[in-house]
Amino acid sequence: MVSRDYLEQEAKNMNNEEKVERLRALIEESENIVFFGGAGVSTESGIPDFRSPNGLYSQHYKYPPEYMLSHTFYANHTAEFYDFYRNKMLFLEAKPNDAHKVLARLEEAGKLKAVVTQNIDGLHQAAGSQNVLELHGSVHRNYCTGCGKFYPLSFILEADGIPTCECGEGVRPDVVLYEEGLDYKTMQDAARFIREADMLIVGGTSLVVYPAAGLIRDYRGSKLVLINKGATAYDEKANLAIRGKIGETLKNAWPEG
Ligand code: NAD
Repeated sequence: MVSRDYLEQEAKNMNNEEKVERLRALIEESENIVFFGGAGVSTESGIPDFRSPNGLYSQHYKYPPEYMLSHTFYANHTAEFYDFYRNKMLFLEAKPNDAHKVLARLEEAGKLKAVVTQNIDGLHQAAGSQNVLELHGSVHRNYCTGCGKFYPLSFILEADGIPTCECGEGVRPDVVLYEEGLDYKTMQDAARFIREADMLIVGGTSLVVYPAAGLIRDYRGSKLVLINKGATAYDEKANLAIRGKIGETLKNAWPEG
């Protein structure tokens, strides 16, 4: 039997086409795959990420985007927060791309057990994925900070200024803002799925937003695949690192039919 070390060394010398072929073979032999992704998964759907050259962080606003998406800003400049949020965080026309679709097909085929995402756009569910763990929440869920009543996205969009519940309190998106903690159970579940996975595919994430990025350390297997346009701090730790577009890469590795 060929050792994993040898395969890894060999993978480093492969061209992109050969790497995609290796990815295909790894998916083929796996039956407990977990996918862990970020904003880069949705750029092929037209939603900008944060840290790419044309991402949100390279555009110019009155305040830095991290601050405009922080709990402090939400609490102290609520009307401005909603202005920014409605204009820059909501992409109603976006449709699932090949990355979302391939992952949904892998789940349907019984190979993939969970999608763990840092995204808040709901595109994995729109593609048909069932088990999606949303570490940073979802723009599709909104709740009253007073009585807890839930509201759909349309409520935020249609409200004039600050969305207000019938009880008189503010309604806010169920998304994790900077300075806020992640949902404990979602993190625990994500860590468990990753720990038990026989293959972990990580893609479209700069892996710099913690604690989410730390989840990758829970993986114990020897099939850690990284698919990203830019370099990440984990490239050297991956058993297979593919530099490219995630939708294109996954579709080439696992075409329909
Ligand atoms: P990030 O912006 O820090 O990094 C995105 C990474 O994806 C980069 O390394 C980039 O090179 C790569 N990338 C971009 N397009 C790609 C493609 N087509 N194929 C492969 N790789 C691609 O994003 P992050 O690591 O997810 O962290 C940022 C935070 O921003 C997350 O918490 C996330 O919740 C939030 N966010 C979410 C959305 C969304 O819901 N769609 C959009 C922007 C930001």
